[in-house]
Amino acid sequence: MKTALTIAGSDSGGGAGIQADLKTFSAHGVFGMSVITAVTAQNTKEVRGVQNIDVDIIRQQIEAIYDDLPVNAVKIGMLSSVEIIDTVSSSLKERKSQPIVLDPVMISKSGHSLLLPNAVKALIEKLVPLADIITPNVPEAEELTGIKIQTEEDMVTACKKICELGAANVLLKGGHLEGEPHDLFFNGENIHWFKGKRVHTKNTHGTGCTLSSAIAANLAKENDLYTAVKKAKQYISMAITHSLDIGKGHGPTHHFY
Ligand code: PLP
Repeated sequence: MKTALTIAGSDSGGGAGIQADLKTFSAHGVFGMSVITAVTAQNTKEVRGVQNIDVDIIRQQIEAIYDDLPVNAVKIGMLSSVEIIDTVSSSLKERKSQPIVLDPVMISKSGHSLLLPNAVKALIEKLVPLADIITPNVPEAEELTGIKIQTEEDMVTACKKICELGAANVLLKGGHLEGEPHDLFFNGENIHWFKGKRVHTKNTHGTGCTLSSAIAANLAKENDLYTAVKKAKQYISMAITHSLDIGKGHGPTHHFY
């Protein structure tokens, strides 16, 4: 059985973060492992509190896994401080042989900051060059590049800028722009648009986490990067179409076993 590792934050509500990642891995028939970087007290409505995990324990979790288990792909999600980013990047650098998917988590759908403002620079310098693909949404791409993104042309400009920052491949998710959601895949040379149809639902909690972990699961199963993204896009479309209307806020995506 193929394996995948998520290095991310816990969402007590079960819709995003580590919980969404592990459900996504299982749904893909991939054995999931986790390094928890933060615990959030969260539901579908709000993030009530965040406790970062001590960096020694983060490092030990990574070492415990790599000293024993095979890791076929890695997904990185919420790393909220410079210290945590430094720890994860140095631990992974020593061991890297498998594909890494970086979801540059910054703000929750409910508006809570999950990345300290001073950590964006560290994310760009330490994690972007380590990743095989980075999957920002429009506000995250704006934060990474300083470019105001209002059109698909702006998305192309931002993708090129993110590659200049050292990213090997970028999937820039266009769902925050008006109209149909078009995601831009850029491999440093060619662009490819994944054109989706908007699903009108408020239940979109954990979509970014689910998409990035589906890419990691497909990479673990030895798909090439383009195929991994294509299959993950199909998975997230289904997961949003059948998302769960539970809780009073943004309900979670649905996972298919
Ligand atoms: N909580 C955690 C721990 C996360 O990792 C993420 C990921 O983006 C979120 C919340 C945000 O989820 P969403 O913006 O989909 O509500």
